[in-house]
Amino acid sequence: MHVMTNSLAKCCSAAVAAGLICLGSGAFETLGQRQGDGYEILYGTKMEPGRDARGDGREGRWFSVTGIEGSAGFDMLHNRIDITIDPATEFVAGTVDATFRVSTASLDSIFLHLKDNMTADSVWMDESPLLFSRSQGKVSIDLSGTYSQDDILTVRISYSGYPDQGLRFRDEAIYNLSEPDLARNWFPCYDEPWDKVTSEMIVTVPDTLFCASNGLLISETNNGDGTKTFHWSTLYRHPTYTISIAISNYVSFSHWYHYTPSDSMEMPYYVYPRKLAAAQASFSNAPDMMEFYSDMFGQYPFLNEVYGTALVPLLGAMENFTCTSFGSGLIWGTHDNDWVVAHEMAHSWFGNSVTMSDWREIWLNEGFATYADALWHEHIGGRAALNSRMVEFRDNYFVEDATNRFPIYDPDWMWGATVYEKGAWILHMLRYLMGDSAFFDALRSYHASYAYNNASIDDFRAACETVSGLDLTNFFLEWVYQAGYPEYEYSWNSFSDGSGYQLNLNVVQTQVAAPVFTIPIEILVTTSAGDSVFRLPVSHNVENYRMAFSEEPISLTFDPDSQILKTAVQVPAGVSSRPPSSGLSVVLYPNPTNGPARVDFFLPEPGDAVLEIFDVSGRLMWRNSKKNLPADRNSFDLDDGSMRAFLPRSGVYFYKLQSRKYSSTGKLTVVR
Ligand SMILES: [Zn+2]
Repeated sequence: MHVMTNSLAKCCSAAVAAGLICLGSGAFETLGQRQGDGYEILYGTKMEPGRDARGDGREGRWFSVTGIEGSAGFDMLHNRIDITIDPATEFVAGTVDATFRVSTASLDSIFLHLKDNMTADSVWMDESPLLFSRSQGKVSIDLSGTYSQDDILTVRISYSGYPDQGLRFRDEAIYNLSEPDLARNWFPCYDEPWDKVTSEMIVTVPDTLFCASNGLLISETNNGDGTKTFHWSTLYRHPTYTISIAISNYVSFSHWYHYTPSDSMEMPYYVYPRKLAAAQASFSNAPDMMEFYSDMFGQYPFLNEVYGTALVPLLGAMENFTCTSFGSGLIWGTHDNDWVVAHEMAHSWFGNSVTMSDWREIWLNEGFATYADALWHEHIGGRAALNSRMVEFRDNYFVEDATNRFPIYDPDWMWGATVYEKGAWILHMLRYLMGDSAFFDALRSYHASYAYNNASIDDFRAACETVSGLDLTNFFLEWVYQAGYPEYEYSWNSFSDGSGYQLNLNVVQTQVAAPVFTIPIEILVTTSAGDSVFRLPVSHNVENYRMAFSEEPISLTFDPDSQILKTAVQVPAGVSSRPPSSGLSVVLYPNPTNGPARVDFFLPEPGDAVLEIFDVSGRLMWRNSKKNLPADRNSFDLDDGSMRAFLPRSGVYFYKLQSRKYSSTGKLTVVR
């Protein structure tokens, strides 16, 4: 998804110039209204209070924290959604046939999500009515019998109502925006990202309208009563939040992606008549993008169907499955917004084919699609274009980070520059560490391994490690599981030692509320003999390097190809820089935990460390100590058995980690 905010400076300045009003940061959804000048005026609404990405109770539980396919006792296989939509009254009524496999030894009930304002009228299985109850956004269904592992069942839910959000009725189109958890606002479903389904969408609307949806159009039937029925179907497994409809008086045109000399796949576009010419111009690079991404990531994963696009009055765009919903306000008849086309198309691989395991790992969708946009810039304009795109990402991220610093994993805010643009930088830095060949091999291998399924950040790290042979534990710990970025101060000088020259380089990391970053630093040193590039290892927040040269060093460039997300300031040699950040840089994970946990920390000087865990009343629950530790990264492993013995109950605990000079405290949430 790409919801535009002020942090997207490039987009927004261009949008303002074109007569669009941009959203303040923090805007979650946008509503469009047709205006006489032909542009949409866009209004932002704040995210609902209490909505947060974590669902850990800190601001109210909105998302289930985690799950795997089948963890609810059933594995949803297929949704057949058959609905009639009345644009005049905004009333929706129909049925959903939900087909699922029993994934537990015995099962006598299931539930589906459906927002409470929608009415579940009846539930059936095999012509027999089933008992059901409603509460807390669910339809709980008594299966009227006990079923065994691997039984495959279908329940039919008849439902109706006036959808609240999720499905939007606007002047120029009716469309949905379901990510992250609004599919349940307009149809009953098991609305979790880790349970992927195939789906059919059968929609009856007034016969003046066309309904675009996922997969292939199986039939279009004129009912002879002023309505038409559109039947769409997809045989590829996809996340429920990408099931979509887009309804308008569309006209269509198509591109073709020629994936062999004799085979091609359709790329259809459903556009407002007034936007036809502009859309044809705006999307004209899309077939080249499809070819490019298929080269970079592996063949387009839904080749037997289509890659479609439907215009809707949304500011931004949403990667609905094989039918991206694309903001009509972005159709200027130019290539200024190719980056949005690229971003949404790249979600076909990262988001729709390989889907993050749960919402805490949204980086696997959005960071990847954002970096794909930068890769398209590189494809068109070379390394300089890539670097300037990365600078834009960096600057947007710095703005968000300055007021709200949080890790990429389990982020405070899912739709901002930290997840998207710092997220893209993390991939850029992995490419730097691994080299182009291994990095792109790893992307392809990761996609191929998890296509049509779900993956976790650990799965991606493992794919990178397998291909590159590198141990990336610390890289992920520092960049994904902790917040911030390195703020380097460096100084250098050189002197003759009789036989040649010695260069001294001093590098200090001055960031606070962030770990020490151990990503190696490249420097370029110029002498009269030419340029030399060195990649320097980093393990502490203060590092000194000495290098020998036969000619006198004339200049030193720090990170010459802008490979690291950072600030870097040169200070005169011999002038002491600001004192480095001190403290233990503790990271405890997973947090919340229902099993083991690990406390990683950096000890600035050799010595002992003591870890204590208290309950909320201050009672000491557990004490753990280690002696004679090196001045380096260290850790306490809190194994599952001890965790259960010492912290038996769910709740919030506090830890205190102390060394001789430093101490650090924080919260640990235990879920039993
Ligand atoms: Zn996106």
